[in-house]
Amino acid sequence: MRANRETAVATHPRESYVERVVPFTAGDGRPGNVINVRGPVPATRPPVLLVHGAGVRANIFRAPVDTTLVDYLIARGHDVWLENWRASIDFEPVEWTLDQAALHDHPVAVDTVCRETGAPEINAVIHCQGSTSFMMSAVAGLVPRVRTIVANAVTLHPVVPPWSVAKMQVAVPAIARLTRYVNPHWGDSAPTLLAKAMVAAVRLFHRECDNSVCRMVSFVYGSGFPALWRHENLNDATHQWLREEFAAVPLSFFLQMRECLRAGHLVSVEGYAALPRDYVARPPETDARFAFLGGALNQCFLPVSQSRTYEYLNRLRPGYHTLHVLPRYSHLDVFMGANAARDTFPIIAAELEREAGRRMVARSARATAGSTANLSEVS
Ligand SMILES: [Zn+2]
Repeated sequence: MRANRETAVATHPRESYVERVVPFTAGDGRPGNVINVRGPVPATRPPVLLVHGAGVRANIFRAPVDTTLVDYLIARGHDVWLENWRASIDFEPVEWTLDQAALHDHPVAVDTVCRETGAPEINAVIHCQGSTSFMMSAVAGLVPRVRTIVANAVTLHPVVPPWSVAKMQVAVPAIARLTRYVNPHWGDSAPTLLAKAMVAAVRLFHRECDNSVCRMVSFVYGSGFPALWRHENLNDATHQWLREEFAAVPLSFFLQMRECLRAGHLVSVEGYAALPRDYVARPPETDARFAFLGGALNQCFLPVSQSRTYEYLNRLRPGYHTLHVLPRYSHLDVFMGANAARDTFPIIAAELEREAGRRMVARSARATAGSTANLSEVS
């Protein structure tokens, strides 16, 4: 982790925020929305879209910690927008695929934010399956107005621990014959015999804490104890709060991820003409700059997932993108960790603000020299 980042930021009391939900209709008619959260001081930076992962919702960026990523970015002048796409548990469960989200949801969400704000370009912070699907949109050239993309956990090259590989190859097809969805919330209330059996099995093997939803999350999404965070990185309130932040995730997603893991990179499964079948077969159709984050202790997607995509894109455009491996962090604690405002948010903000810094240098250099500036990188 870089050491010389600003570590403290004065945040506004959340009571002073104004929140506005803007619904959108996805390309295939499914519901989605973007939530704009504004502080008392008008934003001075471009909109930034925060995109959640599978089986959660936009609220995942607002854990009960002193300073959330939303607080942190608002305090630094960003215009913060949270996207609820079809995987959001705020909507009726649907058997989604990454293709559907890439083609139908994210491009509409980006257009909605641009339309609502009048901004010509926006930035994005994307996480896990919000990241893979948004990456698919970007590679296919469907979100050309997104400038800087901070991507956490996984992008074009998913790599999971060996136990997860076994689960994906053996358990997922078997479970897919029995149910269309699995749900970590079954840990608190299991509606069917299958759900009860799954919870009983998970209780037997996952003894790392007494939060049955936390233990189910680890079984559903990874291989660690727990899989998506380090317990030492969460405060007690967050460990309790997450009980209500996870719900149904369809087997249709896991079956697609199984194909991706086999291929070693993202692949499409729907056959849409607007999306490539293979996402690394040709250079991405985007000028966006990517900053990749990977928790060194991530047991859902191993950090090599991110370094692989970084190396791939770095070969295509050397020195343009960045990679940050985060020591002591796992998967979601990058955003919901009690100390994330000290450890990870400064990196995210610096990446989002880098482009603006470059442009300001360019403008002032042009103003003084009266000619094209030779830019030095500002981070
Ligand atoms: Zn736990």
